[in-house]
Amino acid sequence: MSPTVRTQVAIVGAGPAGLVLSHLLAAEGIASIIVDARSREDIEQTIRAGILEQGTVDLLATIPGSRVHSVGMRHDGIELRFEGAGHRIDFHRLVGRSVWLYPQHEALRDLLAARLADGQDIRFGTTATAIEGVDGTRPRVVATDAAGGVVDIEADFVVGADGSRSVVRHAISGPHAGLFREYPFGWFGILCEAAPSADELIYSNSPDGFALISQRSATVQRMYFQCDPDADPHAMSEREIWDELQRRVPGTELVEGPIFQRDVLRFRSFVARDLRAGRVAIVGDAAHTVPPTGAKGMNLAVADVVLLARALEALLKRADASLIDGWADAARARIWKAQHFSWWMTSMLHTVPGATDFDRARQLGELRTVVESEAGRTYLAEAYTGWPLG
Ligand SMILES: Cc1cc2nc3c(=O)[nH]c(=O)nc-3n(C[C@H](O)[C@H](O)[C@H](O)COP(=O)(O)OP(=O)(O)OC[C@H]3O[C@@H](n4cnc5c(N)ncnc54)[C@H](O)[C@@H]3O)c2cc1C
Repeated sequence: MSPTVRTQVAIVGAGPAGLVLSHLLAAEGIASIIVDARSREDIEQTIRAGILEQGTVDLLATIPGSRVHSVGMRHDGIELRFEGAGHRIDFHRLVGRSVWLYPQHEALRDLLAARLADGQDIRFGTTATAIEGVDGTRPRVVATDAAGGVVDIEADFVVGADGSRSVVRHAISGPHAGLFREYPFGWFGILCEAAPSADELIYSNSPDGFALISQRSATVQRMYFQCDPDADPHAMSEREIWDELQRRVPGTELVEGPIFQRDVLRFRSFVARDLRAGRVAIVGDAAHTVPPTGAKGMNLAVADVVLLARALEALLKRADASLIDGWADAARARIWKAQHFSWWMTSMLHTVPGATDFDRARQLGELRTVVESEAGRTYLAEAYTGWPLG
């Protein structure tokens, strides 16, 4: 058994939530140790989020060496397409804010480089197996390193930033304790080598189902189409995938190219019942998951830790527990706004299996209500670009 290591905050997970939290804590002079089950190389290859809210970008830009403004691409709007016609939602004009297309793995590279240069203790290849002392003042993370050795970290506070299969959530309130919803569809996602098919993202509602035409860079593109959640990502030929995508985006000729990654993503909305117990809290995907239609998951993870860092500063530096006592409720307020927006975008844009003619006509009425009204467009723009970080 290895000796117990002491720190102020033990963080499980070096994803966006864990790394941003360690950055914010370090700025307040609070020490932390991060453990992550994966290697640095694996973390840096996480192909997931692409769209970052204005507030997330403003925060990432403060991290030394951040490339979010030099590599990331500012998008001032998106297009909603239905019945073969495109309708631009002009974020900049409507709410004076934008989003940035900056892939999650690039943000993770920036964060890891900056945190390691700052002397952050990150234990890669180290898997947390249990959280002990949840009800006490010295909670502990018990983990196993890559060589099979036991790592025991005692802290003033433990944060679970360990993703949707969180071990820390389990320690707080059991494996599935919370509110959740499954959707009867998922996304078939591809990465391909091609030039962009459009300047901005196209969210397309079609009788054949939803499609999202997104971008990654000048030479790599990310696209998705609605599929059966149990679909085999390798069952379709490249030709069939392109035909499926093309059918769902009438009016745009997609630029095709070799597909080098494909996956099927199940849709789930979840909010954990308890975000905190004593001196243990969960943030990011450990605390909640959203369907990706609203591009909220990573942004919500960042919003959680902005609030938590302030609460931990008050608790650990000034022995003031008022912010940590109110933290879960404060975080939950934004979480449910984001849950609603993600559900709304998903239900407005996807075709539900078994939908009737009434359902379809009503959905088109809803889309027209949004695009033909300044108020409708403004709500979408405000939520998509992100509410100010509290
Ligand atoms: C296809 C797709 C597209 C998306 N698009 C967007 C988007 O455009 N915008 C957006 O905001 N969000 C988007 N998301 C969501 C976003 O990727 C996640 O919400 C985000 O990764 C959550 O960050 P996190 O730090 O909470 O968790 P994660 O990124 O899951 O990180 C958790 C970390 O914890 C580690 N870990 C897990 N268990 C343990 C353990 N027991 N011990 C030690 N380490 C552990 C993992 O290795 C991992 O590194 C998308 C997601 C997908 C799948």
